[in-house]
Amino acid sequence: MTDTVTNWAGNITYTAKELQRPHSLDALSSLVAGSAAVRVLGSGHSFNEIAEPGPEGVLLSIAGLPPVIDVDTTARTVRVSGGVRYAELARVVHAHGLALPNMASLPHISVAGSVATGTHGSGITNGPLASAVREVEIVTADGSTVVIRRGDDRFDGAVTSLGALGVVTALSLDLEPAFEVEQHVFTELPLEGLDLAGYETIAGAAYSVSLFTDWREPGFRQVWLKRRTDQPLPDFPWAAPAAEKLHPVPGMPAENCTEQFGVPGPWHERLPHFRAEFTPSSGDELQSEYLLPRSAAVAALTALDGIRGTVAPVLQTCEVRTVAADPQWLSPAHGRDSVALHFTWIADTASVLPVVRQVEEALDGFEPRPHWGKVYTVPAPVVRGRYPRLDDFRTLAGSLDPQRKFANAFVRDVLDA
Ligand SMILES: Cc1cc2nc3c(=O)[nH]c(=O)nc-3n(C[C@H](O)[C@H](O)[C@H](O)COP(=O)(O)OP(=O)(O)OC[C@H]3O[C@@H](n4cnc5c(N)ncnc54)[C@H](O)[C@@H]3O)c2cc1C
Repeated sequence: MTDTVTNWAGNITYTAKELQRPHSLDALSSLVAGSAAVRVLGSGHSFNEIAEPGPEGVLLSIAGLPPVIDVDTTARTVRVSGGVRYAELARVVHAHGLALPNMASLPHISVAGSVATGTHGSGITNGPLASAVREVEIVTADGSTVVIRRGDDRFDGAVTSLGALGVVTALSLDLEPAFEVEQHVFTELPLEGLDLAGYETIAGAAYSVSLFTDWREPGFRQVWLKRRTDQPLPDFPWAAPAAEKLHPVPGMPAENCTEQFGVPGPWHERLPHFRAEFTPSSGDELQSEYLLPRSAAVAALTALDGIRGTVAPVLQTCEVRTVAADPQWLSPAHGRDSVALHFTWIADTASVLPVVRQVEEALDGFEPRPHWGKVYTVPAPVVRGRYPRLDDFRTLAGSLDPQRKFANAFVRDVLDA
C-alpha cells in the first residue's frame, strides 16, 4: 500500500497490497469476485490483527458506499449499511422516536464491525449488540449477495462472524420505543461488598452497570449505574455517591463522558460512557477483555485481586460488565450469561503482553473467552475448545467461501484444528 493504514490504537499497521474503497455495490461485488484474498476494515477499533488481510490481500473499506439508514416505524426496525457508525445510526433512530436496546462504551464504531466481533455493553438482561440484528446482507466470495434472516438455520453463525463469510453491506436491527436514561456514579465499592450483596444483585441494580478499578487498591473505584427512567430508582447502599463527575480512566477529563449526576437524557447519550464528539477512553492504550460464566464473577475478581500488584503498573482501568447469553455460535457470550472483565492497558505492547498472560493464567479455570477484537494470547486450540458450535461455523464458512478468500491468518487460527 502506498499510504500507511493503521488501526485506531496505532498498534497494528496493515500490510495489505492495497486499500480499496468502492463507491457502489456493483464495484464492491466485482472487486470481491476478482480478488483472491480480502478483509474488510470497519472503523478500525480492534486492537489485534483480526482485520489484517496479509501482504497479498486487499483491505476493503466500505466507508465509501452510500450510507443507508432506513427506519420502519411500524415494524420498529432499521436497515443500516454496515459501515455506518452507531453515533450516526442512533441519532436517526432517536429522531423517529425509537431506540436500540443497548450500546457499547463508545458510539464511534461501525455496526458491521462491532457485531462481527461480539461487541457488547452491559446489563444482566442485555445480550451483545448482535442480539438486535434480525437480518444480514453479505456479498460473498463470488460477488453475489446472500441475505440471512433470523429463523434461517445459518443465522446463528452469520452475525458474529469475524468477517469470515464475506462483506456485510447492510443489516436490519430490532428497535424499541425511545427511552430516557439517568447515569448515577458511586465510588469505593469494596470487593467484599460483592460477596455480601451478591454480584448478581450489584450487576442488576440498574439497566446497565459497570464497575471500574485501577487495581492499585482492592475493590472498585467507581460504579456506574445507567437507569432507565421507566424502571425503578436504583437503591445502592454499598457505595457512596460520587462528589464530582468522573472519567473511568484516572486523570482523564470527565467532559469527554456522557452526562452523570442522574440528569435524564436520551438513551444514546447515556448508554455509551463516551461522547461521540470526543476521543473515547484515553486514546493512548491497548485493550483486552474476557467473558466468563457470570456465576464465577466473584471468584474471578478475587483471582485478579491476587495479582493486582502485577496488573496495576500497566493498567489504566479495568471494567466489569455483564452480558446476557447469546445464541450466536462465535459470540464470546455464547450459551452462557457472562461477566466481562475488561482491561484498558498502557500503550506499550512489550510491557503489557506478559501481564496479559498472567491475567489469562489467573482466569484460566473459569474458561474465559477472549473478546475477538482485543489483545489476547490464549492459544488457538484452547480458544477453539471453548466454542461448542465451531464445527457449524466451519461448515457455514466453507459453504459461503469455499476458496477461503475471507480467511486471514487470524481466522485460520480460530477455525483450523
Ligand atoms: C476506545 C474503544 C472502546 C471500546 N469499547 C468496547 C465496548 O464497550 N464493548 C466491546 O465489546 N468492545 C469495545 N471495543 C472494541 C470494538 O467494539 C471492536 O473492536 C469492534 O470490532 C470495533 O468495530 P470496527 O468497525 O472498528 O471493527 P474493525 O476493527 O474495523 O473490524 C473488526 C472485524 O470486523 C470485520 N468487519 C468490519 N466491517 C465488516 C463488514 N462490513 N463486513 C464484514 N466484516 C467486517 C473486520 O474484517 C474484522 O474482522 C472498544 C474499542 C475501542 C477502541
